[in-house]
Amino acid sequence: MTSNTTTLVHNVLQSALVKEITNPSNGTVIGELHCAEARDVDAIIARADKAFASWRKVPARERARLLMQLAALFERDKEHLAYLEAIDNGKPVGFALMADMANLIDTARYVAGLADKLEGRNVNVPGMQGQRAVASTSWQPLGVIAAIAASNAPNMYVGWKALPAIAAGNTVVYKPAEEASLSTLYIAKLFAEAGFPEGVFNVVPGEGRVIGDLLTLDPRVKKVSFTGGEQVGAHIAGLAARHAKPVTMELGGKAAQIITENADFERAIKIAALGFMANQGQICAAGTRILVPRQHVERVVEGIRAEVAAQNIGEATLAQTSYGPLGSAKAMQRVSAYVQQARKEGDQALIGGSRIERDGYFFEPTLFLCTPESTLVQEEVFGPVAAVLAYDNIDEAVQLANSSQYGLSSGVFTQNLDEALRISDALDVGNVWVNGFGLIDPCLPWGGIKASGYGRENGIDALKPMCYEKALTIQFN
Ligand code: NAD
Repeated sequence: MTSNTTTLVHNVLQSALVKEITNPSNGTVIGELHCAEARDVDAIIARADKAFASWRKVPARERARLLMQLAALFERDKEHLAYLEAIDNGKPVGFALMADMANLIDTARYVAGLADKLEGRNVNVPGMQGQRAVASTSWQPLGVIAAIAASNAPNMYVGWKALPAIAAGNTVVYKPAEEASLSTLYIAKLFAEAGFPEGVFNVVPGEGRVIGDLLTLDPRVKKVSFTGGEQVGAHIAGLAARHAKPVTMELGGKAAQIITENADFERAIKIAALGFMANQGQICAAGTRILVPRQHVERVVEGIRAEVAAQNIGEATLAQTSYGPLGSAKAMQRVSAYVQQARKEGDQALIGGSRIERDGYFFEPTLFLCTPESTLVQEEVFGPVAAVLAYDNIDEAVQLANSSQYGLSSGVFTQNLDEALRISDALDVGNVWVNGFGLIDPCLPWGGIKASGYGRENGIDALKPMCYEKALTIQFN
């Protein structure tokens, strides 16, 4: 870790609760995270609340200018931000640059462009008692927004949560995941360098259990934007409901990748393999159910085996690494437990299934042949473990894909346009990819249905969930 970052982490809070930061690639302790406690949270919310009073009045175009400056700083420091992610949560640095940093920079520019386009409507209403009236609507910022983020893509989530909120005139208290706080703390410095007033973007690192509840229950916090597992999400939504506080819930997934008879198999296999292995499977959208026509199972498994063998396994900080470690010791325990459970249930091991013998938290890309009832098919592992399901016809494939508590995303591989459209239409998910997997862009809305949550991030309406719509009516003779 650079001395710059060490100083930053040590200086953020002077609380007593300190957690070790471990590099997942080798298990070494690289620093300490000073975790926020109740009094810190209170002070930071007060800071954000105070800043809101003036930030909401800053012209939208000026907010956009600052966001463009921030985007330029993201661009300047992208290697460093990707490096921080690599040492903190084990994301291979090449992947972090190609996916997360590109997305963060694009999102910052896109959101800057939206800042002065939050347009209301002129509405034609009759006045009361024969009077005339004019009416219009406008989008108003809510106030202090709490963002609680998942561990797997800390840079990207700043773009999805904090930037739209700030563009719309809100201020943000941001809680990164314990296992991935470094890059967000660094981003706080970039906000200051870009010229944002103090208190517009605030980071509270530390324990979810402690900070999440405090943020959610505090009356000064007007909305909670959450990304994480569905159990924690349900807990936060429950707390928020006590105060009728709005929430956005970006929760787990169990994406199906449907390979049809009409697929370009070579291409589909390559993409499907990456679909469950990228970032060691620690992606909400990971394609961890691979649905294959029964007669092609062997061909697909052998193809995936070759893709797995071609991975460059190594430390996340190395540019050539394509497959790194899991993000934490906790993740290693969770993934190992799911693999054990699969064996107990009699799922047939096809590829991998073990910890990789080296320092750090490395686990093999793993594939099991499962039945629809298998735990591996029903539950999210959040690791590099996929279930292959054989099917006999397309209707069955669609039924299998939809037989999930989750509804975040799915992939379809076919060269038949009619089939692509029919299947996409029938899938109960927020995002469908055809002949590709995992393309996420600031211009497209992102979010799920069912246990994958509700609300949307990104897209042309990205700022609206951070606002309320106010109606104004003027009556005159
Ligand atoms: P997690 O639910 O363990 O933690 C998410 C955040 O919640 C962290 O900041 C954590 O500190 C905080 N938290 C934990 N316990 C809390 C509590 N009791 N009260 C309040 N806050 C608490 O999830 P994770 O391990 O960081 O991420 C993995 C999960 O996130 C997976 O389920 C994955 O699918 C999901 N995810 C969803 C999306 C999406 O866009 N839908 C994106 C990424 C990850």
